[in-house]
Amino acid sequence: MNYFNASEEEFSDWKWQYRHRIETVEELEKLIQLSETEKEDIKKALEVFPMAISPYYASLIDPTDPNCPIRMQAVPSSAELKKSSWELEDPLCEDKDSPSEESCITHRYPDRVLFLISNRCGMYCRHCTRKRRVGNREYDYSEKVIREGLEYIREHPEIRDVLLSGGDALLVSDERLDWLLGELFDIPHVEIVRIGSRVPVTLPQRITPELCEILEKYPSVWLNTHFNHPKEITPEAKKAMRMLAKAGVPLGNQSVLLRGVNDCPMVIKKLCHELLKIKTRPYYLYQCDLSFGLEHFRTSVSRGIEIIEMLRGHTSGLAVPTFVVDAPGGGGKIPVGPNYLISSSDTGVVLRNYEGVICMYPEPEAYSWECQQACSICDKHPGLKSGTGIAKLYDEENDIIALEPESLERKKRF
Ligand SMILES: *Cc1c(COP(=O)(O)O)cnc(C)c1O
Ligand code: SF4
Repeated sequence: MNYFNASEEEFSDWKWQYRHRIETVEELEKLIQLSETEKEDIKKALEVFPMAISPYYASLIDPTDPNCPIRMQAVPSSAELKKSSWELEDPLCEDKDSPSEESCITHRYPDRVLFLISNRCGMYCRHCTRKRRVGNREYDYSEKVIREGLEYIREHPEIRDVLLSGGDALLVSDERLDWLLGELFDIPHVEIVRIGSRVPVTLPQRITPELCEILEKYPSVWLNTHFNHPKEITPEAKKAMRMLAKAGVPLGNQSVLLRGVNDCPMVIKKLCHELLKIKTRPYYLYQCDLSFGLEHFRTSVSRGIEIIEMLRGHTSGLAVPTFVVDAPGGGGKIPVGPNYLISSSDTGVVLRNYEGVICMYPEPEAYSWECQQACSICDKHPGLKSGTGIAKLYDEENDIIALEPESLERKKRF
């Protein structure tokens, strides 16, 4: 705070924080120790993906530790320039699943959409998966584009869940957010809106009483944030989360597993415990995506599974996130984790617990299911019926016994 020569009032004003984000090496070297090579590296990396660190987040960096987990998420490194053959501009094919090229909607799953409403962030995370959009002025989330997104949702009655993201969904003005939430909840089929925002971590000053008043007006708003390390849970962040909880917003967290930052079971466990203390449910732990310049952040998938192995059963179930790999090519999130089913037979299943105890759970002697109730839930919601995805294989009305890709070579043979 002293360095920035800011008054306490300025430092706690998110607009001041946003305006004073650190964007150049010259500013940065006043805060942390940088060697000449490091400075050169940062300058090169900046040509590929800009830097912007809020003074608040910068103040959490240990100025002398090059491996500081806060620093690693915020300060560029030359490793970002390394190109690997599999790296993809849009690893999750979010653009492919969009109604049009300029659209801010990604409609991948049957009943929910991702709606990008801003390309601003409190801090540009070095591990960002949306580097091509974030901080890029070409992606302009003008009112026109947002109105088109709303129109798309209005025209698709199957959409019951809207995820607002960006950039950061809370780096729009209070007025715009209020208007947008109002428009969304005016659509009869929109049941919930989820806000994706990292401001509680990188710019907690953005969580103002005025913002909370807006959020409180809408009964079905959820918020997912992005804490990656227990060091990020500061008094300021706690205060922001407490204000959101008080406004009645259910809180979740999505972390990314990052080499050198949090790829340790103890760190993740501590993080998840700290999250629960601020009423925040660990939701997902993401395997790092195949975006360009992220190779140095990637861990093996098996490390993630090992981390879950060391959480499940060993600590509160509430503290265990779902570990997911977002499938390259747009297949969406695939949960992976330890296997607990060892074997199965007609009479029972053999399971193991977190301690390695192996047990047999007998299946009921006769079990079959038939709909006997006069409920009509599935008639009104065709999406609830089985007969989609893998469940097609179970469905008696379908005589499908195998799911095969259209491009199967042997199909072309005869
Ligand atoms: C992650 C994601 C969602 C939401 O997935 P949930 O598993 O419901 O949290 C929706 N759309 C897209 C494109 C996503 O990447
Ligand atoms: S806050 Fe999210 S969108 Fe913004 S730079 Fe970080 S990871 Fe990317």
